[in-house]
Amino acid sequence: MSDIIHLLPDSVANQIAAGEVVQRPASAVKELMENALDAGSSKIKLILKDAGKTLIQVIDTGCGMSETDARMSFERHATSKIRKADDLFAIRTMGFRGEALASIAAIAQVEMKTRRIGDETGILIEIEGSEIKNQETISSPEGTSISIKNLFYNVPARRNFLKTDSVELRHIIDEFQRVAIPNPSVAFSLHHNNTEVFHLEPGTMKQRLMSIFGSSYNTRLVPVEEDTAIVKIKGFVIKPDFAKKTRGEQFFFLNKRFIKSPYLHHAVQSAFEQLLPSDSFASYFLMLDVDPKTIDINIHPTKTEVKFEDEKAIYAFLRSAIKKSLGQFNISPSLDFDQEAHLYNMPLKPIDGIYKQPTIKVDQNYNPFKTDPSSASKDSERELSNRGNWEKMYSRHADNQLEFEIKKEEDSQQTINTNWDNELHESNKKSTYQLHNKYILSHIKTGFMVIDQQGAHERILYEQILENFEKHKSVTQQELFPKTIELNASDFELVKELHSEIQALGFDISEFGKNTFIIHGVPADTAEYDSSTLLEGLIENYKQNLLELKSEKRENLARSMARNMAIKSGKSLTQEEMNKLIDELFACKMPYSTPSGKPTITTFSSDDLDKRFKK
Ligand code: ADP
Ligand code: MG
Repeated sequence: MSDIIHLLPDSVANQIAAGEVVQRPASAVKELMENALDAGSSKIKLILKDAGKTLIQVIDTGCGMSETDARMSFERHATSKIRKADDLFAIRTMGFRGEALASIAAIAQVEMKTRRIGDETGILIEIEGSEIKNQETISSPEGTSISIKNLFYNVPARRNFLKTDSVELRHIIDEFQRVAIPNPSVAFSLHHNNTEVFHLEPGTMKQRLMSIFGSSYNTRLVPVEEDTAIVKIKGFVIKPDFAKKTRGEQFFFLNKRFIKSPYLHHAVQSAFEQLLPSDSFASYFLMLDVDPKTIDINIHPTKTEVKFEDEKAIYAFLRSAIKKSLGQFNISPSLDFDQEAHLYNMPLKPIDGIYKQPTIKVDQNYNPFKTDPSSASKDSERELSNRGNWEKMYSRHADNQLEFEIKKEEDSQQTINTNWDNELHESNKKSTYQLHNKYILSHIKTGFMVIDQQGAHERILYEQILENFEKHKSVTQQELFPKTIELNASDFELVKELHSEIQALGFDISEFGKNTFIIHGVPADTAEYDSSTLLEGLIENYKQNLLELKSEKRENLARSMARNMAIKSGKSLTQEEMNKLIDELFACKMPYSTPSGKPTITTFSSDDLDKRFKK
């Protein structure tokens, strides 16, 4: 029998390698932009068609390539960045494996024009599926321009796997920002289908952040700087007041390369301590500079995890540097719970890692019929602190670092075996009491029930919104003074993607220039909200749900809107409002839980009470 092992042809090997290096247009963008940086460019222009599916072009002002280098660059393991194994321990460039161009050329039609600084002429190379189709001398500007056309044209499975243009574009924008932020002295621009999405002039890191995230960042950024023998830290954190509920603005750059580090994220988060509401994330843009010898460079270039030699020390330096900055800039703890509020404080980290609804401690001295004369004056104070505590108690901690098992809808559904609707006598409705501006107490035949006002209202709004969606009956209230809202580029893309659904919710919005929408109208019944805060809150909640649930668009929007608009705990309600809430709750299809599966009602039977009084 003949031997059966043979070497794969290069084109096949390259195509296989490409699967690892290039998953989607954004990965090709990353590789090309990194090459342009490594070439010492002062200006990098990214041009896209159809979110990179049809065209990705990067034009740089870097060193360019000789004719031989230009051809060589498409070979596998062809790199100018290292020569010997030792070089690996001093690597400062973005690339060094020499596989990006070879991989890309295996799965696309590539056209490269390049001219070295000082050379008379340039060179054009056209390559398709690893095969050189054309090579000629041309006149071209100094630097390099690489165009990748029809990515995955010969790998239909991959091509079909690509998401919608707006999703792919958001991935590209993420990669673009990851390269642009740590290199503020380089000019960058991004053009998509003939519109300029970013135009970033060279400047300081602060200016760079402002041109990416909006000029409002001017007052939000707190500088952080620390020089130690092990690590140099430089960058900014965002003031805690502007913390977000969704992740997205957490940037670590290690030797100018974007990295993810749950461990270091924890250091930052802990530096903020109680300054952040418990369900929010610190935002930061931090550059760490370490000796390349002290990090594990053997990580895959497309991966963003890193191993440090001095992980613990870096953690400690980072934490103290941020604490120092927050202190220097007078951002000291401002939360001040009153005595009573402390009762509701829960430890941030439950021992078993699962959040349970807290059981209600019955205050033996509490008499709902007695009104406390001092309570009115304390109301607003309590409203504030209660809200903080409320959010602590019930919000989901989506913090990846702590990797909590979040209770899923199924197991948090309460088993309720009584039909409360029948038990809730008309006559009893008058006797509802509000407890701590959070809970509504009401009689039922067999005892009493406690309704969580915020959760109940969320449920009511959620079902109403879903129904409005289905019946296309959302009512829009036109704004007297239309407002504009400026978003960051990826939120802008998200709103564009959700435009028709957001309209169906009752918003009337239209695009208004770069990254900006104009709000002409808002859903009826939202008069008390500021229209841009309302829309911003909707996007925030939507993104949070997206991370946690991957639910369908409309369902997610309904949830987000309901959470956004619900009466918050801490709000005092009139008898009438409480009755209306109870009525509406029991008119719901699923009154017993919030849209995210937390209970809305709990009951205490007379038997329970009898036992407590040892009757
Ligand atoms: P790596 O970046 O890991 O070296 P690549 O496949 O990305 O591997 O690139 C191969 C080589 O081609 C690089 O080492 C560099 O010498 C050259 N090269 C690629 N892009 C450019 C560019 N924009 N300008 C100058 N040289 C480039
Ligand atoms: Mg490279």
